[in-house]
Amino acid sequence: MLPYNYFLDHRDIALSFATDGFAPFKKWKHTTWILLIFNYNLPPDQRFQKDNILCAGIIPGPKKPWDTDSFIYLLIQELLELADGVSTYDSLSSSLFALHAYVITGFGDIPAVSMLMHMKGHNGSRPCQMCEIQGIGIPDLQNRTLYMPLSCRDHPKPTDVVEYHPVRLLLRSHDSFMVQAKSVLSAPTEIQQEELSKAYGIKGVPLLSALRSLRFPQSFPYDFMHLIWENLILNLILFWSGNYKGMDEGQPYVLPPDMWQVVGTTSAKATKMIPSSFGAPIPNPAKDSSYFTSLTWSVWSLFITPTMLQRRFPNERYYQHFCSLVRILNLCLQFEISEEEINEIESGICEWVVDYEQCVPPFVSEKSKAGLIHAPSLYYQHKPERLPACPLTIHALLHIPDQIRWMGPCWTTWAFPIERQCGYFQCIIHSRLNPYANMSQHLTDLLQLRQVKILYNLTDEELGKPPKHISLQTKRLEDCKLRPGTFTLV
Ligand SMILES: [Zn+2]
Repeated sequence: MLPYNYFLDHRDIALSFATDGFAPFKKWKHTTWILLIFNYNLPPDQRFQKDNILCAGIIPGPKKPWDTDSFIYLLIQELLELADGVSTYDSLSSSLFALHAYVITGFGDIPAVSMLMHMKGHNGSRPCQMCEIQGIGIPDLQNRTLYMPLSCRDHPKPTDVVEYHPVRLLLRSHDSFMVQAKSVLSAPTEIQQEELSKAYGIKGVPLLSALRSLRFPQSFPYDFMHLIWENLILNLILFWSGNYKGMDEGQPYVLPPDMWQVVGTTSAKATKMIPSSFGAPIPNPAKDSSYFTSLTWSVWSLFITPTMLQRRFPNERYYQHFCSLVRILNLCLQFEISEEEINEIESGICEWVVDYEQCVPPFVSEKSKAGLIHAPSLYYQHKPERLPACPLTIHALLHIPDQIRWMGPCWTTWAFPIERQCGYFQCIIHSRLNPYANMSQHLTDLLQLRQVKILYNLTDEELGKPPKHISLQTKRLEDCKLRPGTFTLV
């Protein structure tokens, strides 16, 4: 029992914790990780602004941290103190009170969240962080990557469950997650520990579980930005252009090369006709796909592709399948989502994934089952050798509706603000010899300046900060003003 109830006092604060790794210099293989805290009490249009994001620290590179918990230990101690309450002065009532702040969610891309949750990811037999679906590999192949189709009916290796219901997946609960994590931790030998860890997909007890306001895995949603704009759309393009892991020869979803080129050039031309408020102009996806960002992929897939792909596929079903995805994405991207719309998203995603895999789940009526059998096959086609068409990122789509129910609309926990912050740190590094010390110094200066600003009620201009309208890309020189010299001036 805790001596307080969450959010009983209207002054209680909801926080979220996010992390991501990035390369300090674009062509280096080094990675460094940032630890960010967002304040959810701020209005939505302010909480992700750069000045309102708390950067709790940087885990220096060059390698991915082996033991993340050792780096976040001090932060967790502070967060525990905040949950217990910190004596604070309320200027409105002229009195002291116990200020509570609770972390309610943790987010980032799949590797970052796996790291925070101590999940094994692709190496465990249960790779999904949300449910207990069993991963299966390609038969007779040394490749140890596991895939997650809803149906394992035609797979030669027997599995515990043959068909998964797309709506009724075996979700992990907080209690079962913690029991499994503790049993891995307390296994008597290293071999047993590894065996259990593989079976559960969990490596041990995460330090974040000390924060009792977090639920495992419900507080750690899959990131919508990476799931859709960095994986799903890219994979569909690889299918359509005949470049998906060498399994596209003679497939009905492949567009002829000249037609794919036409789609690319017409798409690039079309952006000149779209007002810039809809998003950044896009390059040619058939030629310069490496120049795309999540934002440009979203503009392309939501506004341009539904027109560009019309009547392009030899089989119209692929076009209809893509359009139904766009309809679902538009619903997911709404600022507010009603319960009915979540149900609509749920049925839409289930239908989309089932069509993608072309399986005949047991819940489908006999009549439509017959229809599905004779319908043209889409991407996975129920063939064990085509398993790479079913990565975790396809399965994870099925968890989006529940995540919206638990954590709110997709924008509340997507990775756009984290990516922007990573881009900001890439811009501020000037020393190639000591990039991590450079970053750390800059962060300290920045936070001290922010405190000075609050303490003396100063404006950005009085601090010598560049005006807000200067974009991140163009303000590299302006950043010099934020360096220690400015601080002494203040
Ligand atoms: Zn799952």
